[in-house]
Amino acid sequence: MASTSHIEIKRDALKSNVDFIRSLCKSNVELSAVVKGNAYGHGVSEIIPLLQEFGVTHFSVYSSAEAREAKKVISPESTVMIMGYIAIEDLDWVLKNGVEFFVSSPVLIRQIINRAGASEVKAKIHLEVETGMYRTGLSLAHLNQVVQLIEENRSLFDIKGVASHLAGAESIANYKRIKKQVSTFRRRIKYLEELGWRNLKAHISSSAGLINYPDAQFDMVRTGILLYGYWPTRETQISYLHRRRTKEDPLRRIMKWQSEVMQVKRVPEGEFIGYGLHYQTDRKMRTMVVPVGYCNGYSRSLSNNGHVVIRGQRSPVIGFVNMNMIICDVTEIPGVKVGDKVTLIGQQEDVEITFTSFADMNNAMNYEILARLPENIERIVN
Ligand SMILES: *Cc1c(COP(=O)(O)O)cnc(C)c1O
Repeated sequence: MASTSHIEIKRDALKSNVDFIRSLCKSNVELSAVVKGNAYGHGVSEIIPLLQEFGVTHFSVYSSAEAREAKKVISPESTVMIMGYIAIEDLDWVLKNGVEFFVSSPVLIRQIINRAGASEVKAKIHLEVETGMYRTGLSLAHLNQVVQLIEENRSLFDIKGVASHLAGAESIANYKRIKKQVSTFRRRIKYLEELGWRNLKAHISSSAGLINYPDAQFDMVRTGILLYGYWPTRETQISYLHRRRTKEDPLRRIMKWQSEVMQVKRVPEGEFIGYGLHYQTDRKMRTMVVPVGYCNGYSRSLSNNGHVVIRGQRSPVIGFVNMNMIICDVTEIPGVKVGDKVTLIGQQEDVEITFTSFADMNNAMNYEILARLPENIERIVN
């Protein structure tokens, strides 16, 4: 079945982003590629093999379900690490397949102890410690419980690392909170070392942390959004470029999401376009219909707000984003005809649609729009 749009993944751009991220890492710091959310909507089955070609061997996902998807395309030498949720019925699979995972409560440790004997392989765990985000993470009391449970069942566990997550490294407004988190993290590492748990791989930074807190790299960084060519926020981009001599953007967007013109229409002055009374023409207008809507991942928040590129020019979305369609204004763009390529994300000629321009409105916009791109859109690697 042909989809109404397709996503092109640019291999060279991904390579260049990986090189850029590596240039920011100190030597001996490992790069874990975060490929949760279907590789931020880009497609794990396309992204993981490419990253492996570029020498990446560590991959972070959110859940056991995502780990299963990743394992299908990952080479046996590479590591998969779950940073979040493990469905209880997946636990056996996780252990048998040597998938690493965060432990953020004693409950999971007890479950592993209870099923001891079900598999010979050790649970490869990263202790996710609370440092001040107060989302998931082991409080000191829980950390002590976990340490004790593990000490009593030492043969069941292979303790790989100690981890945490920074609560907003992308904004200077959070500077004090982040600094406090990093120093708490150092204390937890030291605490574990004093208990005799040495050589744990420590990791706390994601993309924003890597850019803004170079001293918080520890042994590994977990970067997502930078890989795909986007800055965590505009502020992060500005603060990075501010410190450099060249002001050229080192990142390259790796995705181009395209559809085509399905219909072109003339609309008289004073008429309403689409559902209800949300858009009224103030002159004679020409519109085009593009067969992509919120069920294809084109966010409803782009109603009367987003832009696409057609014939190398920006064209605004008018009215509401429908389930399967958007209507765009092409009054000032001559020659638009059925079948013309429409770019929804990415570059066409000199015009680029990124969502960083919307990021001021909502920091999570880049992440959200990308992560919501459905799996059934055809992906092509170029
Ligand atoms: C999503 C996530 C990351 C990666 O974040 P980016 O901002 O995309 O680099 C790292 N660690 C954890 C725990 C995450 O949930």
